[in-house]
Amino acid sequence: MKIETRLAQIGNGSDPATGAISAPIYHSTTFAHPALGESTGYDYTRTLNPTRRLLEDAIADLEGGARGFAFASGMAAVHAVLTLFQPGDHIIVSNDLYGGTYRVLEQILRPLGITATYVHTGHLEEIEAAATDATKGLFIETPTNPTMQISDIEACSKLAQSRGWLTMVDNTFMTPFFQRPIDLGADIVIHSATKYLGGHNDVLAGLVVTATPELGERIYFVQNSIGAVLGPQDAWLLVRGLKTLALRMERHMQNAYAIAGWLDARDDVPKVYYPGLDNHPGRDVCARQASGFGGMVSFDVIDARMVPFILEHLKLITFAESLGGVESLMTYPARQTHFDIPEDIRNAIGVTDRLLRLSVGIEHIGDLIDDLAEALDYARDRVLSGARL
Ligand SMILES: *Cc1c(COP(=O)(O)O)cnc(C)c1O
Repeated sequence: MKIETRLAQIGNGSDPATGAISAPIYHSTTFAHPALGESTGYDYTRTLNPTRRLLEDAIADLEGGARGFAFASGMAAVHAVLTLFQPGDHIIVSNDLYGGTYRVLEQILRPLGITATYVHTGHLEEIEAAATDATKGLFIETPTNPTMQISDIEACSKLAQSRGWLTMVDNTFMTPFFQRPIDLGADIVIHSATKYLGGHNDVLAGLVVTATPELGERIYFVQNSIGAVLGPQDAWLLVRGLKTLALRMERHMQNAYAIAGWLDARDDVPKVYYPGLDNHPGRDVCARQASGFGGMVSFDVIDARMVPFILEHLKLITFAESLGGVESLMTYPARQTHFDIPEDIRNAIGVTDRLLRLSVGIEHIGDLIDDLAEALDYARDRVLSGARL
């Protein structure tokens, strides 16, 4: 069955005892043993919970993997995957990386002896150049956050496989609706399900999918041992969000496409980062490996002094961290999500103090463009009054 159908039907039929269409939420932390040495399959909720399992099976199916795992946050999911590495191991990582992942790599793993090198993973020669005898993994975001760099997942996975490295893809921006890295050769897919998968800015969650049962066993061991599992109520909220993922992603992309084109035509917006734009360097690779370009748009304004005026003058679009919900949100990466990344590294990858990131929601496109137009015009008048662009 097609992904739209599988999404809408998650959980339906899972409770034959009552026929519930919406799957029940099992809050029980423990489960009775029928007899000594016997189990219903459920013993204790950290180890396995029926509601969490429904979600875990669903995400494994959607990503085309062997097993799925639900964590208390995207960062808990990232961390669980990175515990597969040992002191002395080296990982090659996309250089325009989610700030929290960078923080885990630099401030938690590096002191433990696990090192990372950051390169543009869209350029295979940069990956090759960064490789050492100790390299054991390749960690990719595509598109990256926030400058929308595109990496060729299939080419990266092939290279990694030929060297015996693990390929991990953070698929938060695309979701399995648009992009399925395991089909392209990746070993592990990670999500901040807080974003598009949940979709309503009301649940914090992370998901991991492994391509093979063997990797699944290793992640399961970490999940059960460390215990940063997703609670049943949140697992249910995520299932509910997933049911409408296809519709939401289509509208997110439609709106983002329109806004990217509109921004690109403005003379006070010198640069727009959206993989669907003809002038985006990764457009062809993105079009080949994904069925859509997503709902995230970043852009530079011509003068950093415009930024506070824009943020203060937006009426519909909310100035807030995060992304992927039905409501449009504007973020200032240099001061928020990427604040932990040193300024020279940030500037080198384009996360300057002139960059804004927009998570385009599912509102009416006319209202979104009106709001952006008013805020940008106002900021331009305040900062550049009299000046010609
Ligand atoms: C938000 C995000 C994360 C972290 O997820 P949390 O749910 O906030 O812990 C990781 N990767 C990407 C790409 C994200 O956007």
